[in-house]
Amino acid sequence: MTPARSFPDNAVRPVLVVGAGLAGLTAARVLLAAGVPVRVLEARDRVGGRTWAVPALSDGGEDSLLDLGATWGWDHHPHLRQLLGELGIRPFVQPSAGATAYQTPQGVHRLPHPSGSTGYLRFAGGAAVLCRTLAGQLPAHSLELNTRVTQLRRLPNGQGIEVQAEQGESPRTYAAAAAVLALPPRLVAHRVAFDPVLSAELLQTLREVPTWMSHAMKCVVVALVKSLVQRLNERLLGGRVNASYCATAGARKVHLVAPIDRELLCR
Ligand SMILES: Cc1cc2nc3c(=O)[nH]c(=O)nc-3n(C[C@H](O)[C@H](O)[C@H](O)COP(=O)(O)OP(=O)(O)OC[C@H]3O[C@@H](n4cnc5c(N)ncnc54)[C@H](O)[C@@H]3O)c2cc1C
Repeated sequence: MTPARSFPDNAVRPVLVVGAGLAGLTAARVLLAAGVPVRVLEARDRVGGRTWAVPALSDGGEDSLLDLGATWGWDHHPHLRQLLGELGIRPFVQPSAGATAYQTPQGVHRLPHPSGSTGYLRFAGGAAVLCRTLAGQLPAHSLELNTRVTQLRRLPNGQGIEVQAEQGESPRTYAAAAAVLALPPRLVAHRVAFDPVLSAELLQTLREVPTWMSHAMKCVVVALVKSLVQRLNERLLGGRVNASYCATAGARKVHLVAPIDRELLCR
């Protein structure tokens, strides 16, 4: 990270952070802490990127938010733990002891609980709570939603860069000391133009960097839930089913939803 004082000619120009996911908002936080003015541009109408939770029950409030993107952090990630501490977010440890059971027409099957599945951290309100909290700490007017960056142009004589964006139907131009692109490299390669153009080698690398979990999709099924979870609850687990049951089918994950018992979850 370069402190603001290294940009004397661009003292009033912010560093533009493109993308208000975890990476972009964390970068903005670090830059601001170093005294660098920052502006965050986000294409969607929300922050969070691939962390996103949706309400599963109409009357469930925050307790019914289910992750459609990232869900877990891990106990052995010191940077995450530190960030959570600084943001005042207290994760809870996903219960990992107990039975795993499922029912088919042939009967009830019980699985030995897999070993090594401890230390999974979850977040009340979903993992997107990190981004919401980070965004909430940005200075006023430094985050612009619905703003898709389309082009970065390097200005001559070290004057920084000019960034073109679309805000709805309207084109926008920003002057910046520098830009941080905090989006999947493939999106950079395919959706952002550069002047001067990037080298063929760099473009190729951007195209080839895999986007983690880009194969995955989650959806929420509510209608089935009550009867299924109630049956599980009554017949298999002695009344201990709590939150969502997450079934993996190929690359898809399906949350089967029941009202969350926060007390049970937090134990
Ligand atoms: C289904 C699923 C499950 C996952 N589960 C886990 C998990 O349990 N644990 C875990 O650690 N990780 C998990 N991940 C991965 C995790 O979500 C990502 O690694 C992480 O959220 C990436 O953050 P990011 O800020 O780098 O990118 P993103 O979250 O993708 O943020 C990029 C942002 O840039 C914006 N953007 C894109 N193009 C432009 C543009 N031209 N102009 C302006 N803005 C733009 C996007 O709208 C987005 O908000 C999962 C991912 C998925 C999809």
